[in-house]
This record gives sequence, C-alpha cells and structure tokens, in this order.
Amino acid sequence: MLDRPDNAQPKAEGKTLVPTLAGRKGLVVGVANDKSIAWGCAQAYRALGADLAVTYLNAKAERFVRPLADAVDAEIVAQLDVTQPGELEATFDIIREKWGRLDFVLHAIAFAPMDDLHGRVTDCSREGFMQAMDISCHSLIRLAKLAEPLMPNGGAIQTVSYLGSEKVVDNYNVMGPVKAALESVVRYLAAELGPKGIRVNTLSPGPLMTRAASGIGHFNDLVAKVIDRAPTHQLTTIEEVGAMSAFLMTDLAGSVNGELIHLDGGYNVMA
Ligand code: NAD
Repeated sequence: MLDRPDNAQPKAEGKTLVPTLAGRKGLVVGVANDKSIAWGCAQAYRALGADLAVTYLNAKAERFVRPLADAVDAEIVAQLDVTQPGELEATFDIIREKWGRLDFVLHAIAFAPMDDLHGRVTDCSREGFMQAMDISCHSLIRLAKLAEPLMPNGGAIQTVSYLGSEKVVDNYNVMGPVKAALESVVRYLAAELGPKGIRVNTLSPGPLMTRAASGIGHFNDLVAKVIDRAPTHQLTTIEEVGAMSAFLMTDLAGSVNGELIHLDGGYNVMA
C-alpha cells in the first residue's frame, strides 16, 4: 500500500463524522453584500469554527462588506480588485504575515462588460471577452498560485460556476464560455495540486437574486423557469450553497477533488 505524503491533509477516517473547520484559516473573495453567495459561505465557514479573511472590491464596497466581515469576526479585511496590479499579492502578504498559512479559499467573483454580456457570443468584443476571462477565470489561477505555498499541509480551493457553461442558457451569453473555461481550470488545478493535498472544486448553484445576477438579461424569466422545471420547484439559497461549500472545505470531503457540484434542486438533470 502507498503511504500518504507527509504534507497531506489529515484523513477523516477514525475521526468524528461531524464536519468542522475549527482552527482553519480561510480566505473569502466575493462578498459584495448580504445577498452574495460568498456571504452565505462565509457565515457557514464561521459557523464551523473557521477564522476568516474577507475582501472587498473597493472603497465604495467597503461600507457594505466591513459590517459583514465584523459579523463573522473576520481577522483580516482587505481590499482586493483582481484587475489592480499587486492587490492580490498584497492580500496574500497580509495573510502570510498574520497567519503564516492558509487552509482554504473561496473564489466567488465574476464580471463581464454590460455590452458584451447583453449581446450574442457571436458579437462579443475581444476586449470584453478578455476582461471577463481575466476577472472571472484567470484570477482563480493567480489565487491558486499564491495559495499553494501557504498550504504546505494541504487545503481546499473552490470557485462558483453556473449551468450556462454546460448548456446554452438564454441571456447567459459570454459568461457561458467563460464559466466553461473556469470549470476546466478547476480540473487542471485539481490534478496539479492534488498531490500536495490541495483539493479544487466547483460549485454550480441555480439562479440566486444577487447583484451579479441582476446584470443578466431577463433574469426573472430564468428564475420562473427554474421554479417550474426543477424537480424540487424551489430556488437555491445562499445558506444552502454555504453549507455545501463549508462541508467541502472540511476533511470529511477529503476525496472530493476536481468535481463540479450542482446545487439546483435537480434542474440540470431534466431534459
Ligand atoms: P455578487 O454580485 O454578490 O458577487 C460578485 C462578486 O464579484 C462581488 O463581490 C464583486 O465585488 C466581485 N468582483 C467583480 N469584479 C471583481 C474584481 N475585479 N476583483 C475582485 N472582485 C470582483 O453575486 P454572486 O451571484 O454572489 O456571484 C458570485 C459568483 O457566483 C460569481 O462567480 C457568479 O458568476 C456565480 N454564480 C452566481 C449565480 C447567481 O444566480 N447569482 C449562479 C451561479 C453562479
């Protein structure tokens, strides 16, 4: 039998089957307000005992995010716009100085310029496509690269995607191909970082009324369709996404790597 590498995260075998993140250090990127998916996740991580670093996009966003960060006792609150040179590195510098290590990261950010988001993929501009890919996809690669040296004992990284990557969803437009790339990046990161005990997974929730979602055209129609066609006839909540995300960050999910997990009441299985 092969020995597990010394740096691997502890396996759950022989331990209590109660999920816990007690003593774990986690970075949450993507809280804009109390409707954000990342906020549902941050609350769940904290409920399982994690210590958190929470980022906000810019000074305008800070006044919405800081009270939320305080509510989960965040030990680090930092400004992070992934398009600003050095801000990602600065965030990791703070984490390295304060904690010396990192156990998990949530990447829950996406952006596409409105003109491109509202037009056909056929008409998408080069600049818009590149910007959407940079912020929504390549930022995960940069995040993982900076997290890797801070996870000598393994860790977990998650991002958030949507069904519009797998199937054509009306009005999802350029975010479809961008999310498809994101999901593929997750599989490659999972393969490359798995030997170091770092697991990388994608959450794929159904539609949720968030600020990012308000940029999608005719979003209410999509919501109505999901309520009608999902076997549960219910919308996903940020609390449900948070609970799944938090579980996947724990050692109990030690075998879940490179996966895409739908949280949509079964909508994706319907023909
Ligand atoms: P949200 O608006 O609350 O969060 C989006 C976040 O992206 C914000 O915190 C924003 O500050 C951040 N962001 C945008 N540009 C950034 C940049 N340059 N640097 C750093 N951060 C930046 O909306 P949400 O729905 O919670 O979105 C979170 C993730 O979930 C996104 O990836 C989104 O595509 C995905 N998702 C959303 C839904 C939905 O229906 N809301 C469904 C599936 C997946």
